[in-house]
Amino acid sequence: MEKICPSHSVMILFVITLVFSVPSSAAIKNGYERDIYEAEELLEHFKSLLDNNSLSSRERRLITSNIAMLANSISYYEVTENLLSQFRTIAPDLYDEVNAITDKHGRAVNVYIKIIPKNSTTVKAWGITYLSHVRNDAHTYQSEYGVGTVSVKIWMVNEALFVLAHELGHVKYQVPHLSTYIRDYKKFYSTSLDNFFYLGHHPNDPSGKSANEYVKRFRKEYVYYVRTSREKIQSPLVLHGRFRRNFIARV
Ligand SMILES: [Zn+2]
Repeated sequence: MEKICPSHSVMILFVITLVFSVPSSAAIKNGYERDIYEAEELLEHFKSLLDNNSLSSRERRLITSNIAMLANSISYYEVTENLLSQFRTIAPDLYDEVNAITDKHGRAVNVYIKIIPKNSTTVKAWGITYLSHVRNDAHTYQSEYGVGTVSVKIWMVNEALFVLAHELGHVKYQVPHLSTYIRDYKKFYSTSLDNFFYLGHHPNDPSGKSANEYVKRFRKEYVYYVRTSREKIQSPLVLHGRFRRNFIARV
């Protein structure tokens, strides 16, 4: 995957104290989940405003622009849902391994996945698994979603399923080996922190090996699925456009 997919683990050096509780059961989750209800409610609100016939053309343009923006955001949620669902259908075993992942102490860890616009990350990679731990506890993963969570970002590219497989391979290794991996990571990449194409893929990096192995396993399942299933695999780019048009068309 490294030839076409510069996806990497990125060590986040900030360590903050969070007050979230550790999740009781692990799961792969849609990273947009916590914002989706508010976005959908706002969309409905703006749509209802358009029923007012006394709006000025400026007000109408402003509302329509907000609707377009919300339709775009909600479409990213839907595309992420579709990606996770496709992955689970094609490779349920791989999905379930991460869906039930626990850390070194057997604690559940949630893995949040987001499809995001291409080129929208500081690190220019098709996929990123962020690496960070709780202050004074190198065994406990954390991300912007809280304690006991991992954040994974995937660019919206046609190969997103393979990028996801790659990143889940990183997650599979990193979660149960967090403490030792962070130590090794600093050793592997102490002199190459400016080379993002290399991060996570030092020849001796077990996380990089796990990522490559996951892609290999996923490809096998993918080929089988394409040969045997009548269901067509949907491109995230095409889907996003379709979802977006549908949300706007309902106005
Ligand atoms: Zn990688």
